[in-house]
Amino acid sequence: MTTCPCGSGRPDAGCCAPYLAGAEPPDAATLMRSRFTAYARGDWAYLWRTLHHDHVDRTQSFAGWSAAIAEHGAGLQFRKLMVIATAGPDAQGLAHVLFHADVRAGRSNRSFAEHSRFRHDGVGWRYLDGVTLDDREVPRPLAALTFDTFGHAAWR
Ligand SMILES: [Zn+2]
Repeated sequence: MTTCPCGSGRPDAGCCAPYLAGAEPPDAATLMRSRFTAYARGDWAYLWRTLHHDHVDRTQSFAGWSAAIAEHGAGLQFRKLMVIATAGPDAQGLAHVLFHADVRAGRSNRSFAEHSRFRHDGVGWRYLDGVTLDDREVPRPLAALTFDTFGHAAWR
């Protein structure tokens, strides 16, 4: 039995594994967790499938995108996920998730916080876009992080 990489503390068979195998996550926060697990497992096909068709990366082909992400992800350890806050869906149909991801590349700290936005595409929740904060800019303790930390000026 393997503990799920998303940090839920549950065995992966009762957590993210069914989603990676094809089930639809019931809400945006569950999708977000399963995408972290997909990063940890190198499941690029799942990350692509759960990317909203309006996400900027969707202008690329899966082959080109997955080659780039595999190269970028090589050597990264996705160690821990903390979902700090969720909100929505709002009047625009957007669900919001605030999280901190503990990511290392050897001894180098690649951790970050993100305010992610998700939209349902009629089939399931999909990752639309996000604004990140480098770990050095993230307030401590992590529970002090709020959606307001990010402001909204960064949205295109
Ligand atoms: Zn999980």
